Amino acid sequence: MACLYYAPPRTPSSLIHSMSKQPLRKIIGYHQDEHADWVAELSCGHAQHVRHNPPWLLRPWVISVEGRKDHLGRMMPCRKCGEEA
Ligand SMILES: [Zn+2]
Repeated sequence: MACLYYAPPRTPSSLIHSMSKQPLRKIIGYHQDEHADWVAELSCGHAQHVRHNPPWLLRPWVISVEGRKDHLGRMMPCRKCGEEA
């Protein structure tokens, strides 16, 4: 994992900075909420919407079975852990 905080070049540095406060957690599963939006279940016990982030964080992989399988076990920043810290 060389580039944990990848963001598009035009992302304001303030956004990258706030993102870096969110600890990385392992994705251990997925489910869909009542709106059929995908929610990743993280190793810390939190669940995080994958598609409710600002547009530059949209993760197209989550809508495909292969994409979800591919990301299982990978790390993603947990916003809730970041807020509690
Ligand atoms: Zn968490």
